Amino acid sequence: MKTEDIAAIKTLLSTSKNIVIVCHKNPDGDAIGSTLGLYHYLIKHNHKAQVITPNNYPDFLKWVPGENTVLKYDTQTTDSNTLIDAADIIFTLDFNALHRAGAMEGVLKQNKAIKILIDHHQAPDDYAEYMYSDVTMCSTCQMIYNFIAMLEDTALIDANIATCLYLGIMTDTGSFRFRSTTSTTHRIIAELIDKGADNTAIHNAVYDTNSYNRLQLLGCALSNLKVLPEYRTAYITLSQDELQRFDYKKGDTEGVVNYALSLDNVIFAAIFIEDRQEGIIKISLRSKGAFSVNEFSRAHFNGGGHNNAAGGRSDFALNPTIEKFISILPSYKDALNYDE
Ligand code: 5GP
Ligand code: MN
Repeated sequence: MKTEDIAAIKTLLSTSKNIVIVCHKNPDGDAIGSTLGLYHYLIKHNHKAQVITPNNYPDFLKWVPGENTVLKYDTQTTDSNTLIDAADIIFTLDFNALHRAGAMEGVLKQNKAIKILIDHHQAPDDYAEYMYSDVTMCSTCQMIYNFIAMLEDTALIDANIATCLYLGIMTDTGSFRFRSTTSTTHRIIAELIDKGADNTAIHNAVYDTNSYNRLQLLGCALSNLKVLPEYRTAYITLSQDELQRFDYKKGDTEGVVNYALSLDNVIFAAIFIEDRQEGIIKISLRSKGAFSVNEFSRAHFNGGGHNNAAGGRSDFALNPTIEKFISILPSYKDALNYDE
C-alpha cells in the first residue's frame, strides 16, 4: 500500500467512524477471519464497526470470536441497509469485484462511503478509494495483520484478533502447506500464537467437526471421481440428489476437490456441484504448478480467483457442463503436460 494512502487512512481512522466490513458471498475461513479480525481491531479504536456477510456461512465457523454480532444481508436486509447507509467507511475484504458480494452488489455500488479494499485475488476492480491488493499474499488475514502493522498497531493485537487472523491464514493455506505459505507467514503465525491464538483448538473447531452424513457425502464424491490421464486432470461431480441423500449442509463440500488434486500425476482438478435452487453448477478448480485455473475459469466458467485455486459457474445442467469441460481440455493439452 502506498505511504500516502496509509497516512490518509491513519488520519481517517483517528476519529470515531461508522464502519461496515463486508466479504464475499458464501464466506470461508479467510472471509470470516479477516472481517472479524479487523472488527476487533477497529472497536479497540472506538469505532462503531459492523461485519455484514452477503449470506450465511458454515457451522464450523460459528465459534469465531464476535461471530454472534455478524449480520447476514440476505435475511437481515433492513438492518444491514440502515448500517450501510450510515457508514463513513466500508471495508471490502477477500474479494476483487463487487458482484462477488452477491445480493449486496447494488447497495455497495450506490453507496457513497469511502471504500477500502483489502484482498489477494487477481485483477481487482477499480471501485475503492484505497486499495491494498497483493496476489502474492496467502490470505486476506495475513494482509489484515500487515494493515495493522502499517498502522503501527501490532501491540493492539489481542487473543480475539489473533484467533481470527490465525483462522484465515490456516484455511487459505490448507493448514500452511500451499505454495503461498512463506517464512513470513510462519513468523506472523508464531506471533499470533504468542498473542493468544490457540492453534490446536482452532484446527479442531474447523476440521474435526464432521457429521456422519458429511463423511458419507465425501465417500459418494470420491466414488464419482473420474481421471483423464491424457490431460493430467481429475474431476468430481455431486448432483443435487446426492447432496440431499446425505443431508447436505453449507460447507460440507469444502476441500473435497483437493482429493482429486492429490492423485499422483494429476495437476488439474475440478468439482462440479449441482445447485438446483440457483439453477447453476458451482465449480471449484484447483491446480499444481504453472497451469492457471484463474485464467481457465475466467475464459470458460464466468469465474476467477487465484492461479492455483479458482471458482466459477455454469448455467448448463450437470452432464452438459461436464461435456463442455471435457471438450475444452484438448486446447490445454500442452499447458497441462508441462515439464516440472
Ligand atoms: P472455491 O473453489 O473454494 O469456492 O474458491 C476458490 C477461490 O476462487 C477463492 O479464492 C474464491 O474467492 C475464488 N472464487 C470462487 N468462486 C468465484 C467466482 O465465481 N468468481 C471469482 N472471481 N472468484 C471466485
Ligand atoms: Mn482468501
